[in-house]
Amino acid sequence: MKSICIVGAGKSGIATALLAKRQGFDRIFVTEKTPEDNFLDSKKILEENNINFEFGKHSINLLDEFDTIVVSPGVPPEAEIIVEAERKVKKIISEIEFAYQFNRNPIIGVTGTNGKTTTTALIDYILKNSGKKSIAVGNIGTPFSQYVDKVDPGTIIVLELSSYQLDRIEKFKPEVAIILNITPDHLKYHKTFSNYREAKFKIFANQKHNDLLILNFDDKETFLAKSQARGQVAFFSSSPIEFGAYLKGDEICLRFPESANEEVIMKSEEIKIPGLHNVYNSLASIVAVRFFNVSNEEICNALKSFEGVEHRMEFVRNLDGVSYINDSKATNIDSAYYAISSYKQPVIWIAGGRSDENDYEFLDDVVEKNVKAIIAIGEAKGEIFSHFCTMKRCYLEDTLEDAVFRARQIAEAGDIVLLSPACKSFDMFRNFEHRGQTFKDIVGKLQ
Ligand code: ADP
Repeated sequence: MKSICIVGAGKSGIATALLAKRQGFDRIFVTEKTPEDNFLDSKKILEENNINFEFGKHSINLLDEFDTIVVSPGVPPEAEIIVEAERKVKKIISEIEFAYQFNRNPIIGVTGTNGKTTTTALIDYILKNSGKKSIAVGNIGTPFSQYVDKVDPGTIIVLELSSYQLDRIEKFKPEVAIILNITPDHLKYHKTFSNYREAKFKIFANQKHNDLLILNFDDKETFLAKSQARGQVAFFSSSPIEFGAYLKGDEICLRFPESANEEVIMKSEEIKIPGLHNVYNSLASIVAVRFFNVSNEEICNALKSFEGVEHRMEFVRNLDGVSYINDSKATNIDSAYYAISSYKQPVIWIAGGRSDENDYEFLDDVVEKNVKAIIAIGEAKGEIFSHFCTMKRCYLEDTLEDAVFRARQIAEAGDIVLLSPACKSFDMFRNFEHRGQTFKDIVGKLQ
C-alpha cells in the first residue's frame, strides 16, 4: 500500500496529488493551513478526483498514517507539521523529488537567485526553434508533476528550480544543471546565506561523470561549486574562458576543450532581451543547448527573436518620450541592480514592498550613476527613503498608483520610469504578477 500526505494545496500540491493518483497510490491526503475560501479551485479539483483533504489546519496526529510527506515550496522548515514529521522520521521530500521517480526524459535544471525564469523560457525557446521537443516546467509556473508521466519520450524537460524545491531532494538528477548566480535572498526561510547556497548546490548532488554542470565563472559564490562537481563543468563569463560561452569584446563566443577553435556566435547587441544580466542568461543557455546538439546558427536566430518574459524588464508604453518599464519580478536587491544598470537614460526608480533583510548599500553606486529620482512605496518605503534621501531626490507614496502619478509628474522626455521594487510584493499585492499587472493597468490609463 502506497500512501502520501501532501502539505500545501497550491498548484504544485494539487499536481502532486493528481500524479500520485495516476500512479496508483492507495491513500492520498492534502493538508492546507489556509482556509478553503482561498483555495476554492484546488478544493474542486480534489473533490472531483475523490482525494481526501483538509483546509484551515494541519492534523499532526494523521502523520503516522503516511509513508511519504511531500512539502510544497515555501512551507518553512520550522512549521509544526514539518518538525513533527521529522520527529516521526518520515520521508519528507519536495514535489520535484516525488515527480522525479516517474521521469524518463532528459532534464536541464536551472537554478540561481535571479534569471531562472528568463533562462528556462529562453532554453525552451531555442530548443523548440531548432525543431527539438521540449517543455518548460517547475518554478516557471507549470508543476513538474503535471507532465512528468505524460511527455513524449525524448522531450527535453527544462526545469526551473527554486531553492525551496531543491531543499528536499534525494535522488533528483538533471543531465544538465545550471547555477546562474547566488546572491542573498530568501534569508528568512534559509536562515543563513550558506544554507541558501547549499540548497542551490543540491542541483548537481547526484550528477554522474557524463552529466554537465554549468556555472557562472564571474560569480564567486557560484564558482565555489566547481570543487564539489561530480560531472563535467562548463562556464559562462563576461571575459574569455577555456570551456564554455563568453563575451569577448562585443562578441558572444564559445569554446570547448576538445577543440582549440573559438566559435563566434553573434554580436552581443543582437540579443533581443536587454541588459548585461540577459547576456549572462543567454550565455548559460547557449552552453546548455549545445549539449543537446543545437547548431550555432539556430542559437543565433533564436536569441535574435526571443522577446523575454512578462514582468521582467517588460516595456509597457512610451508616453511623451518617457518609457515605462515593468520589472515587478525584481524581488531582491541584485535583480534591481541589474535592471537599473541596464539603462543609459536617467531612471526614475519605483521601489519598495516587503523587504527580505535588504542591504541597500549594494545599490549605492548604480543609483548614484543611473537614477534621477526614487519613489518609495510599501512596507520598506521608510528604509529606502532614509538610505537614499541624502543621495537622490526621494518621494514617499502610499500606493503604486500614486507612485506612477508622481513619476509622470517629474519625468522628462528621454527618461525611463522603472518599477523594479527590490522587494517582495506580498505587503500590497497577491504576488509579483498582480503587482506588475496593476502597474501596467495604471500606466496604460495615463493621459
Ligand atoms: P527568477 O526566476 O530567478 O526570479 P527572472 O528571470 O524572473 O528570475 O528575472 C527576475 C528579475 O531578475 C528580472 O526582472 C531582472 O531584473 C533580474 N535578472 C534576470 N536575470 C538576471 C541575472 N542573470 N542576474 C541578475 N539579475 C537578473
